[in-house]
Amino acid sequence: MIDTILNTPLKFSKGVGVRRASLLESELCLVTYGDLLTHIPIRYLDRTKLYRINEIVEGTENPYVQFRAKVLGFAIAGAARKQRLSVEVADSSGFANLLWFQRFAWAQRSIEVGREYIFFGRPSFYNGSLSIVHPEFEPIGLSAEKSAVGVEGIYSTTEILTNEGMGTKALYKLVKQVWSECKPYIRENLPEYMTQSLNLMPRVEAYEQAHFPTSSEALQRAIYRLKMEELIPLQLGMTQNKRDRHEKSVGYNFENVGNYFNRFYTEKLPFPLTGAQKRVVKEMRADMGSGRQMNRLLQGDVGSGKTIVGLMCMLLALDNKFQSALMAPTEILAQQHYRSISEQCEGLGVNIAIFTGSTRKKERERILAELADGRIAILIGTHALIEDPVQFYKLGLVIIDEQHRFGVKQRAKLWGKSLQAPHILVMTATPIPRTLAMTVYGDLDVSKIDELPPGRKPIQTFLIKEGQRLRMIGFIKEQIAKGRQAYLVYPLIKESETMDFANLEQGAEMILHHFPAPEYATVVVHGKMSNEDKDYGMRLFASGKVQILISTTVIEVGVNVPNASVMVIESAERFGLSQLHQLRGRVGRGAEQSYCILMSGDKISNDSEKKLNAMCRTTDGFELAELDMEIRGIGDIEGTRQSGQAMNLRIANLAKDTDLLELATIEAEKILNADPNLSHPLNKPLKDLVEKMRISRGGSFSLSQIS
Ligand code: ADP
Ligand code: MG
Repeated sequence: MIDTILNTPLKFSKGVGVRRASLLESELCLVTYGDLLTHIPIRYLDRTKLYRINEIVEGTENPYVQFRAKVLGFAIAGAARKQRLSVEVADSSGFANLLWFQRFAWAQRSIEVGREYIFFGRPSFYNGSLSIVHPEFEPIGLSAEKSAVGVEGIYSTTEILTNEGMGTKALYKLVKQVWSECKPYIRENLPEYMTQSLNLMPRVEAYEQAHFPTSSEALQRAIYRLKMEELIPLQLGMTQNKRDRHEKSVGYNFENVGNYFNRFYTEKLPFPLTGAQKRVVKEMRADMGSGRQMNRLLQGDVGSGKTIVGLMCMLLALDNKFQSALMAPTEILAQQHYRSISEQCEGLGVNIAIFTGSTRKKERERILAELADGRIAILIGTHALIEDPVQFYKLGLVIIDEQHRFGVKQRAKLWGKSLQAPHILVMTATPIPRTLAMTVYGDLDVSKIDELPPGRKPIQTFLIKEGQRLRMIGFIKEQIAKGRQAYLVYPLIKESETMDFANLEQGAEMILHHFPAPEYATVVVHGKMSNEDKDYGMRLFASGKVQILISTTVIEVGVNVPNASVMVIESAERFGLSQLHQLRGRVGRGAEQSYCILMSGDKISNDSEKKLNAMCRTTDGFELAELDMEIRGIGDIEGTRQSGQAMNLRIANLAKDTDLLELATIEAEKILNADPNLSHPLNKPLKDLVEKMRISRGGSFSLSQIS
């Protein structure tokens, strides 16, 4: 291997030793020289610029500044244990105050009144005057000699490492030393045709520029090159995997389009399908008629009409003499599906049944019997569907509504109910950001309904700060006067958190105060209630007997009350974007204009402000999902915890590098079209990289296989 030097463990490096090496591993996952070289700076300091004091103002672009000034005097202030050293300095343009809070004996000894120094640090401002806490400093003569400091990398580190002498500066030194050892041995690892066509900086140069940039342009090109070096093999592996699965998987062939499907389409369809619905039906028919097993994710915003698409797939299964199962995350949702699907299929002679935890014993027995001999064509239910006694005659299609509520194990159990893996369709309203669709879910087939049925009025969203609470109350009163209903949702992150619990109770009190009985009727629903009580409360609201439903996020999935036109989300800043979007989707289901009111504290963080403003600006779930990932990073996105790590990406960032990833995907496809197994000698370097990545991921690229 040409890169053996990169595999050298860091513990062999000068000044590291076993103890620090093990901390570098546990804290930053850095084991080898190669790992350290991919630990590129999070920021760079331009130490070439010398400011004048009056140029340093609040909001200066650079987080750090450097200036030359003369020391005017010292003072030590504060009580015994909280002493601080305060040093007054000036240049011809103004004054600055330097502060040390602990261990300042050294600074006190080294700084002489009347002498000039170069000071360096992060500026802060108190009452408009400049101060710097714990600045670095060097006497003027000395720093003139080493004026070539240039641009300096700032490396991320941790408190534990810093305490062990591995702060950002020490890391910088270590990188410098390791780089000088490695540099002579670094070889290009991408094919020449690729570095040419993508205009990639050579590998040695890229590492060097990433750590010690000579210009911002060179730095950009270096980072670009190093990211592509990670993303291209990743996408090659992903694409190979997907193609492989397509070739090998065997599935039931639904080759007939028969009476059930056709009669439904021509006689029963309650409305014309949207273009997007037609397209995805076509995609799924192609899957199920290909002889391969369908493994498809159907994404579509709340209200985009996924159910009917699922139903058409189930009718196709029936035309081919197969049974289908539709699994919903809650009892209420299962009931809803059962009702609407039964209605839509009326007169077609389809035997549809519902099976949930609350199905009575006698009914259970009947269903189990009819399922086993094939009389039931469509079974709708909850988790109860995967219980052991449930045996199908010939299960050909499984549809899962709202994927994230079901674990992999539960799904596997359902597949086990069929001789051969049935076709799988997972329907979700939680949009998957594009980068994840290309990577974490890269080997799944994805269909998208990206169009709402015509005539929907987009929900209007407003942000109201705590100080204007009465406006919100007044607005709900207006809507109720028009005959509408309102939801009020409180955050309850863990249902055991007593503090959050109080929020809901206080909120209910506040609402009862403003909306007293008998003029108004209100109901409270939360996760600590029994299922029966919850259902009862929801039903009261659904029936219209109650105008205000106060709840926690238990209503996130499921309820459909078209007459409800207002969704108030309390402490909205505490919810993630995708959850806010899901909650908002509970309204806007009827013909009336609907509204979402986000209540927030008067002072909220920048990220929160960004998040809530985005909610006001757009109702596009995909756009919000992208932003959500940008704000929270990839680690927090539902179902993908640790996936960033599992991807083994050190430099590329799935939350941000969407465009690069897209480019890498296109490149990978192009290469594999010409050379499916990467067996051409020119592609040998790529084959090696993919192999290396596969090994480091435990032998597989697949993270998302849903069957
Ligand atoms: P979701 O994608 O959130 O599951 P549903 O399937 O529940 O959405 O559909 C939401 C509502 O829109 C339902 O009342 C459904 O009957 C209706 N709907 C679905 N497709 C269309 C369409 N093409 N035109 C008009 N209404 C539609
Ligand atoms: Mg739905």
